[in-house]
Amino acid sequence: VAEKQYLITPGPTPVPPEVAAAIAQPVVHHRSPDFKALLSDVLAGLQRVFATQNPVLLMTASGTAAMESAVVNLLGRGERAVVASAGNFGERWAAIAEAHEVEVVHLRGEWGERLDPDTIATAVGGCGARVVFVTHSETSTGVVNDVQAIAAALRPAGAMLVVDAVSSLGGIPLMTDLWGVDVVVAGSQKALMTPPGLAFASISERARAAAAGGGQGRFYLDWEAGLRAQEKGQTAFTPAVGLVQGLAAALELIERRGIDRIWAHNRRLAQAAREGVRALGLELFSPDDDSSAMVTAVRMPDGLDGQEVYARLRDRYHVVLAGGQGPLRGQIMRIGHMGDMDEFAIVTALAGLGLALHELGYGGASPGAGAARAVEVFASAEAP
Ligand code: PMP
Repeated sequence: VAEKQYLITPGPTPVPPEVAAAIAQPVVHHRSPDFKALLSDVLAGLQRVFATQNPVLLMTASGTAAMESAVVNLLGRGERAVVASAGNFGERWAAIAEAHEVEVVHLRGEWGERLDPDTIATAVGGCGARVVFVTHSETSTGVVNDVQAIAAALRPAGAMLVVDAVSSLGGIPLMTDLWGVDVVVAGSQKALMTPPGLAFASISERARAAAAGGGQGRFYLDWEAGLRAQEKGQTAFTPAVGLVQGLAAALELIERRGIDRIWAHNRRLAQAAREGVRALGLELFSPDDDSSAMVTAVRMPDGLDGQEVYARLRDRYHVVLAGGQGPLRGQIMRIGHMGDMDEFAIVTALAGLGLALHELGYGGASPGAGAARAVEVFASAEAP
């Protein structure tokens, strides 16, 4: 058994005891009536969290496979697609599409910026792409993009919108049908409080039809085969049965807590994280407002290497935050507040950050200032 650690990252997130216990149950056979009932419950629960009447395809894979499934089911080689990105996971859309020889019109924003709906719509109008890929919560920067506005801007052109909600689904509002999003992809290991290993894609009727008549070579990730199996109460291949059992428990927990309350809870944790960061005398990299409720990204003070801070926190205090990715490596630290996180996760993250920075020579504020401010925020507003 690994040493105790405080996992306060943007995924994987801590797994609640109910979920861990469900995973530890005996494996049921995936062609049995018991599994059929379990799958049916899980798929219905997922539809509620996705806020969709469309089918949600369950894959045994990580989130990136669900992303790749959208590319290979919707686009043939040489077909054109628009990717709008401003961070590591937006870049991933472009990398996957290019790997499959899709002609990518890549609208690349500065990391840390929000995507501009009108720019996307104009680009689609100009190049005639049928499919647009964006990221909802850009985990590398903490920015949450306005998917509702992007979907509305794309409506006149009729392009299909595919959204990466791996680090947002279940944690912040994402109204798939109401906003008119064709495909939403997600993973089990973040706001859904289940270990890594399951991925999902909600698929609109027109996306399913486009996939049935197009796309390119695929087998494991073929949407039609997966959806047909699910319509018979099965999965096309042997699924990670234990994880499906765990996900059922996690979805039950989400229903019990209430999705609105979860969203409010996450906003409150994020607010305390932001105020704590500022009280430590640090600057935020992620937006300083309620839109950024999944990940708080903190700029490291000049002269301090974020990777060193990250390693100090992990090795000395067993506090696991996330460092910066790509060009932000060493520049920022990221605190995740999604899934089964609570007030003490935030207090711990800020206390750990204060201690580690202090030990590495930072003299900006007293080490406990961030944690103290977070406690004040929690004391001043009642939990939802
Ligand atoms: N997209 C986003 C926004 C993510 O945060 C992640 C995981 N950090 C991924 C995609 C990739 O998911 P996975 O690692 O499960 O393949």
